[in-house]
Amino acid sequence: MKFSTKAIHAGQGADPTTGATIVPIYQTSTYTQDAVGVHKGFDYSRTANPTRRALETQLAALENARFGCAFSSGVAATAAVVGVLSSGDHVIVSNDLYGGTYRLFSNVFGRYGLQFTYIDMTDLEGVRKAIRPSTKMVWIETPTNPMMSLVDICAVAAMAPDVIVAVDSTFATPYFQQPLELGADVVVHSTTKYIGGHSDVVGGAAITDNKDLYEAIKFQQNSAGGVPGPIDAWLTMRGAKTLALRMREHARNAQAVAEYLAAHPEIERVYYPGLPTHPQHELAKRQMSGFGGMLSLTLKGDDARALAFPNHLKYFSLAESLGGVESLICHPARMTHGSIPKEERERRGVTDRLLRLSVGIEDLDDLIGDLRTALEATQRETAPA
Ligand SMILES: *Cc1c(COP(=O)(O)O)cnc(C)c1O
Repeated sequence: MKFSTKAIHAGQGADPTTGATIVPIYQTSTYTQDAVGVHKGFDYSRTANPTRRALETQLAALENARFGCAFSSGVAATAAVVGVLSSGDHVIVSNDLYGGTYRLFSNVFGRYGLQFTYIDMTDLEGVRKAIRPSTKMVWIETPTNPMMSLVDICAVAAMAPDVIVAVDSTFATPYFQQPLELGADVVVHSTTKYIGGHSDVVGGAAITDNKDLYEAIKFQQNSAGGVPGPIDAWLTMRGAKTLALRMREHARNAQAVAEYLAAHPEIERVYYPGLPTHPQHELAKRQMSGFGGMLSLTLKGDDARALAFPNHLKYFSLAESLGGVESLICHPARMTHGSIPKEERERRGVTDRLLRLSVGIEDLDDLIGDLRTALEATQRETAPA
């Protein structure tokens, strides 16, 4: 089965009891047993639920893997993966990281005796130097938020053969990036984003082809209990059916928007892996089969212009999150990355002039027209009198 077929068929055969073509929402916490210990494979919905299982089978298939665990959020998936470690274990983490992951590692797991070293993973020699005897996991996020930089999954995995290599592949989705085939051991997604795809459900997933690692993550899932309810699992599964279709359109629109902006005299810089000017464009071509729907930009002019710019947009809503069919814009320094100290933020390029776009699948002419209007409007506002 190829990708689009798996998205629609994996885990989603007709319901065995009724023939329902679409997997039902099994809104039940428990299951009646025929005799003590005699049941149909389900005893309690924290442990397993048929709707959730269908989603887990679907998502595992999309990563070409045997095992998937669905969670109530992306951070719950992250917590379950890191939860397989023990006090004293060391984790190497890319320093350009989703803020919630940083908070979870530093402020929660750090208190439990796990050790985290944050490094620039674009420097491979730095990764090699950071590995210690106690290193048990490498946590990669690629592409990163909001600077759109990449980590070479293949190179890092080759360097750390006895270490669990985990990749947060949320921005790329399984459609454009297959970390397990590049040597990673486990892939994590915030399914809230592209996989759900419609900004109407929060969820996460951890996917692996390693049976022991799966058992350990599954144990975390059942023990800590961060599972999605059946309706959320069903909505995520419905969203994921059209992932291929949506991603092609997201990437097509984002490429065109990136090229439009890059050529515009009022734009200082565009960060998009699909542009030949992106410093890791060659790696992106090797590691990804498409460049996704996310891009960031800096406007010429002052901070005030970047803050005013979203007010002139009609189709790009000013909002956190990403990956839905509708276009969004966010001001990372004041929104998603507001909790990172200003100096640290600016060192990473997240200045007050940076804006991040989640390019949706609306008509391209409307999106470019919207951006043009806002560029012209802010140019007038900030022009000297
Ligand atoms: C949103 C996001 C997360 C966290 O997922 P939630 O579903 O919000 O818990 C993790 N990693 C990345 C890259 C994200 O964008």
